[in-house]
Amino acid sequence: MKCTRDGNFSTGELQRFGNIELSPSAGVLNYGQGLFEGLKAYRKGDGNILLFRPEENALRMKVGAERMCMPSPTVEQFVDAVKATVLANKRWVPPPGKGSLYIRPLLMGSGAVLGLAPAPEYTFLIYVSPVGNYFREGVAPINLVIEHELHRASPGGTGGVKTIGNYAAVLKAQSAAKAKGYSDVLYLDCVHKKYLEEVSSCNIFIVKDNVISTPAIKGTILPGITRKSIIDVARSEGFQVEERLVAVDELLEADEVFCTGTAVVVSPVGSITYKGRRVSYVEGGFGAVSQQLYTVLTRLQMGLIEDKMDWTVELN
Ligand code: PMP
Repeated sequence: MKCTRDGNFSTGELQRFGNIELSPSAGVLNYGQGLFEGLKAYRKGDGNILLFRPEENALRMKVGAERMCMPSPTVEQFVDAVKATVLANKRWVPPPGKGSLYIRPLLMGSGAVLGLAPAPEYTFLIYVSPVGNYFREGVAPINLVIEHELHRASPGGTGGVKTIGNYAAVLKAQSAAKAKGYSDVLYLDCVHKKYLEEVSSCNIFIVKDNVISTPAIKGTILPGITRKSIIDVARSEGFQVEERLVAVDELLEADEVFCTGTAVVVSPVGSITYKGRRVSYVEGGFGAVSQQLYTVLTRLQMGLIEDKMDWTVELN
């Protein structure tokens, strides 16, 4: 789907996956006008397909587009395009329990622009790929390292939206961490260098005495849709959940730590290393709280329990 600055996207069309043509002076290539989303489609036992909260991705893209001076498709256009793309790629949705179809909507400034300014034309596209687990550990505990020199986001910046440059900003620390055997990097706030923010591609939660805490959304972390869903699931399961500043020292006392995201779902954290000191949590699996939340969320996403929240969209 394409549009000019007026923001009215044309009706899209389905195309075979392949390279696309872009001007060397496209806004996205020169000035980083790009946003993406990520969501998943799961196959149910009866063969139908479930999408999880696609309108939340549409709304997040709208907020991000506003920050990046881009027009965005309407929520209806976004969700219809996701549905059409998934239905056209139905055969790639893995059987129940064997993974999911990852859906990647992408919005970019595709028009040519030389001086620094918003691009004159925008393209919205969606591609899909079957996926299994995100971390090579599967759903086994992941090992994080806290980064205290490089930051992914600063107050007033773009850390709270899903713009492509945020991911370029984490590559260096993430590659270094992976080379040392860690699964990923946990970032601290760049002002006090003391409060937890998030991991390169997921949100973080800690559990202490059955109270669940997660860093509050304040512009420098991505408002994850899984984060929001887990907060609702946890409260409906009777847990107290706090969205607040979570200090790095609290990691020393936590009973459990886990990450949430579309790709990682709910992943238990096995250890966190900070300035050479390693704090370990669960041995070889989930802690009790993250296990409970993982089970409810994944059953909901796969259509194995009643969707009382009305979060899933069924396609056949
Ligand atoms: N933080 C970052 C930086 C991410 O890239 C993601 C993945 N979109 C998340 C958190 C989790 O967001 P969601 O639950 O919507 O996938």
